[in-house]
Amino acid sequence: MATPAPRTAASETGDPLLLTPGPLTTAKSVKEVMVHDWGSRDATFLRINREVLEGLPKVVNGEGDYVTVPMQGSGTFAVEAMLTTFVPPKGKCLVLINGAYGHRAKKILDIAGRKTVVYETAEDTPPDLAKVEAILKRTPSITHVFAVHCETTSGILNPVHEIGELAQRYGKTYLVDSMSAFGALPLDVRRAHVAAVAASSNKCIEGVPGLGFVVARKADLAATEGNATTLVLDLHDQWRNFEKTGQYRFTPPIHVIVSFHQALTEFWAEGGQPGRGGRYAANCRTLVEGMRALGFETLLPDDLQAPIIVTFHMPTDRRFVFQSFYDKLKDRGFVIYPGKLTVADSFRIGCIGRLNTDHMNQALDAVREVLAELGVASASPKKAA
Ligand SMILES: *Cc1c(COP(=O)(O)O)cnc(C)c1O
Repeated sequence: MATPAPRTAASETGDPLLLTPGPLTTAKSVKEVMVHDWGSRDATFLRINREVLEGLPKVVNGEGDYVTVPMQGSGTFAVEAMLTTFVPPKGKCLVLINGAYGHRAKKILDIAGRKTVVYETAEDTPPDLAKVEAILKRTPSITHVFAVHCETTSGILNPVHEIGELAQRYGKTYLVDSMSAFGALPLDVRRAHVAAVAASSNKCIEGVPGLGFVVARKADLAATEGNATTLVLDLHDQWRNFEKTGQYRFTPPIHVIVSFHQALTEFWAEGGQPGRGGRYAANCRTLVEGMRALGFETLLPDDLQAPIIVTFHMPTDRRFVFQSFYDKLKDRGFVIYPGKLTVADSFRIGCIGRLNTDHMNQALDAVREVLAELGVASASPKKAA
């Protein structure tokens, strides 16, 4: 008997929907604006770029005191630029780790020869604020504190505002990786005393990949001159050049920036962070309820789960083979993501990008079909009795 052709997901372009941590499904309108060529000194491009840079501090309540410094490349380029421009060669950074992106920050600082103090908790555990305070109290040589907003490894929400309060109380400069949260989860850089926060074009603002950026408090950025130990990732130099000429030092990803401008226009039209975050929260609720109804269990309790990406435990039924599950979902037009946890065997499904609850329900229908095809009656991760 012939198997029926799999239904494919309703994306605008016929491409599979990306239920991943990024790059993400973007609107067709965001891709369409790229079908032109502009020189890097073209007046239209320079205006578009200026509007992008001026708009980003508003997303995190940083208007006036904060400035955006873009950095060509993926998000990690912005994180490395932020860390190696802000933490001087003689500085020492407290790195809060509960997943791969915290480890990556530590690695960046190690390679750059910056001293670190690490406070690591398990991937399903936010830092204990009393312990953070104890470390700051007993280690006066710490100059900077680094935290990840939503640790995309698990999808856990870290207490970035509370950590910022502590950094402020002990006179430390506070640096945040808000890559997977910027524009979706509330972040108030004034209230959290953030000196600099890094993010990128291709996550919750729903642009295409290619541009990282750092929103930095001007007073702190001005004090970083001479800290950088690379030419390309020197945020201070990049900033000064913009102030002087309005231009990038090196070739900008022009099409990405023009597309990012369109994505930001659509972001504001959706109601900014509350609107975008509201859609993602609805996606997350739909996904988690639907998956739990099939027996799946989330790694995180609901109060630690950010509505960005959800980690599910691997079912224990022997007929559940992750690669087949993954491939059959892909055939139906949904790309999910493997886990990279050390605490549990898991996989991840994202709620971000140009997706709504209809898409999430279609994904759940596909999951239900695939489980039936695999002969998996329950997706529970509990060992059968
Ligand atoms: C996506 C992401 C990054 C950057 O990853 P790139 O692959 O370099 O774009 C950094 N931190 C977090 C928390 C992320 O989710």
